[in-house]
Order: sequence, then structure tokens, then C-alpha cells
Amino acid sequence: MDNPLPPGSVIGILGGGQLGRMLALSASRLGFDTHIFDPAPNGPAARVAARSWAAPWDDDGAVEHFASKCDAITFEFENIPASALAAAASKAPVRPGRRSLELTQDRLIEKQFIRDAGCQTVDFADVNSISDLEAGLSRLGRPAILKTRRFGYDGKGQIVIRDETDLETAWRDLGEQPAILEAFSPFQRELSIVAARAANGEMAIYPLAENSHEGGILRLSKAPAHVDSATENSAIEIARAIGAGLGHIGVFAVELFDVDGQLIVNEIAPRVHNTGHWTMDACACSQFEQHMRAVAGWSLGDTIPHSACEMTNLIGGDVTNWQGLASDAATCLHLYGKTEARAGRKMGHINRLFPLND
Ligand code: AMP
Repeated sequence: MDNPLPPGSVIGILGGGQLGRMLALSASRLGFDTHIFDPAPNGPAARVAARSWAAPWDDDGAVEHFASKCDAITFEFENIPASALAAAASKAPVRPGRRSLELTQDRLIEKQFIRDAGCQTVDFADVNSISDLEAGLSRLGRPAILKTRRFGYDGKGQIVIRDETDLETAWRDLGEQPAILEAFSPFQRELSIVAARAANGEMAIYPLAENSHEGGILRLSKAPAHVDSATENSAIEIARAIGAGLGHIGVFAVELFDVDGQLIVNEIAPRVHNTGHWTMDACACSQFEQHMRAVAGWSLGDTIPHSACEMTNLIGGDVTNWQGLASDAATCLHLYGKTEARAGRKMGHINRLFPLND
């Protein structure tokens, strides 16, 4: 690689949650210091970083000051305002760049991009009013899913439109904001693929994971997923097309629906992803280290797992059993240092390892 950042360099992370924390921990293993920028002080990442900065996203001066201390900057979540990214980019290279964020922050733009990249999505309609919603439903049929275009996560900001759903209530409940209506996918299972792309276009791709959700929140990821080679190859092609289309630098994840062996892209995360946490204990190079390698311009690491893994999220009160989990020799425990175990909050995760091909 040209001009890789040497150990001792400072990598800035926009966002200070658990993904930032795990990025910072991996960066420190490679000899980097991390600086965290987040409006909330003292979050999970700040407490493992060399330095942290707390200021609102729209405080351009604060973002620029933070960025002026960094050799490269990355982000841990995709809802960062474009203005903050631009302020950071005025002082240090930001990886991935604006394009990755802009094409994935808005579900409608994202779906169009996915199609332009030659990948399949469910059918969808642009919805800005009740009459758009009615027109969309007459084309896509019921059930369908109405989602806000922006700021949705963990199943939030979406409503299933069933036969009995009253459209005015649904539209009001969604906040009467720009939305996308999606045909309901009759998938058999949900898969995801986590990949990294270097500045020179080289890619490193982890095996597929199979994921289950509860209440819209990821519960369990099993990797490598049991899939035939045609499915694995088609996921790899999708990851390559999306990585190249975004011009991405760093790790990203693609969430997929498996419909009779056809892979339909549901969503792209332009960052490290919950369904890649299994790589922390089942691969020599985790998704977090991989991301830092790409951001720093290092060569990418190996993605071949040495073990199979089941990753289970610890959500809300699950974490109170930390002593039981810590005393299980087969369990790798990861806690995020969050003080309040609110319902639905991701507090940590466990990885259980198994021999490959079991
Ligand atoms: P999302 O926020 O788009 O990742 O959606 C959260 C979860 O809702 C997904 O993981 C699926 O389980 C389900 N879901 C989302 N979109 C669809 C769809 N078009 N058809 C069927 N299920 C969906």
C-alpha cells in the first residue's frame, strides 16, 4: 500500500457507541491511538480511547478541532450529518468517504443505488403522502412495509401494512415524513455478508452469516452460514458490486433475504456491523481490525475463520447474567460498558465457538 499510517498515528472515530469501542480496542492492538467524537460524553468508546470530544454534530468548529488532531477519520454509524463529515474532511482524510454515507442514509436512494449496481431488491415505491401510499399499495399489494427514508434502525421507523391496517393511522404513526413502501419479501432466511475494501480496490470478504431477529433487533448470528457455493458466490458478487459502486474504503455489511436461493439485498451498512461480531473470536482478523487496516491503508487481513461461531446479543436485562456467562469456558464475553440496561438496548454479546463443518 502507498503511505500506510504507521503505528502511533491517531485515528478519529465519529460516534462513540459500542461499535466505536470495539474499533478503538482493535486500533489499539495495532498500535494506534483513537480519538472519539460524540455529542454524548463518556460513552462506551470514550472510555477506551486516548482522547474524547463531546460537542453537537452541528458544531463545525469542534468537529474541525477534533479532526485537526487526527491522521485519518472514520465513523461508526451512518446517521452522521453530511456537514459534520465535510467539516472533518477539511482537516484529515475521512474513510469511508461521503459517497458511502450519502448513498446509504436514505432508504430510497440506497435501494436505487443497489439496483444500479446490478443487485436485486424488493419492489418499492416512493411515498410522500397518503395518496402515494394508496398508489404504492395497489401496485405492491398487502402485506407491505412502510419505512421512513431516514433514521430507521433496529426495526424502528417502520410499519407493516396488513389487510386490516388503516392507512391514515399508519401514515400518522410514521410521522407523515418521506417514506418508502416495500413489497413484503417471503424470505426463508436472513443472511448477511461483511466485507472490507481497501483504497486500491482490493477486497476481503468474510463468509456469510445467518441471522435471526426478535422484535426487530438482531438476536443471533450463526457463521459460516450453511449455504451452497452458488449462494456464497452470489453474495460475494453482490459485496464486490456494492463495495466498488460506493468506492468504499473500510468495512461494510450487506443484509440479504434468501428467497428460494435468490439473494435480495435488504440494506447496506457502510460500517462494521452487528452480524460481523462473530469474527472477533472466530477469525484471526476481526471486522474491527479489518476496518482499521483499511482506514490506515494497511494490507487487509485474512477472513477465513478458524472456528464456526454463534453470536448472541445481550439485550437489556440479559446482561445481569454476566457472572454465569463469564464462568462458561466455551463462551467469549464482550460487554460494552453501558451503565443502564434499558429494554431493547444492546449491552454486550457472546460468541460461542464450534469446530468448523459441524
Ligand atoms: P430493516 O430495518 O430494513 O433492516 O428491517 C428490519 C427487519 O425487518 C429485517 O431484518 C427483516 O426481518 C424485516 N424486513 C425488513 N424489510 C422487509 C421486507 N421488505 N420484507 C420482509 N421483511 C422485511
